[in-house]
Amino acid sequence: MQNDTKIPENHANRLVHTAFGWYAMTREQSDLGPFASQQEASLALSRHIRVYKGVNTRSEGDVRHAGMSLHDTAHCSKSNCALCAEAYILNQSLIA
Ligand SMILES: [Zn+2]
Repeated sequence: MQNDTKIPENHANRLVHTAFGWYAMTREQSDLGPFASQQEASLALSRHIRVYKGVNTRSEGDVRHAGMSLHDTAHCSKSNCALCAEAYILNQSLIA
């Protein structure tokens, strides 16, 4: 059975899996998620990009910083941030 649920190439590094679920990272104030599946996160990201096309003139650069470890959660201004969620989980597991 053929299915067309393939994740677009340019989404791959913007979809993050955390213990809460899947997030789609955006350049805007709020990341999208969490979603139950990578597919849902990808669809949400597609919609998001459509909405924001033309609004955000910055180039399609890396939204993800190099490496997973050095996200500055204390100074992060996002209201819903995939990397903060990831860091939160990491902290919890270090404490536990
Ligand atoms: Zn953050």
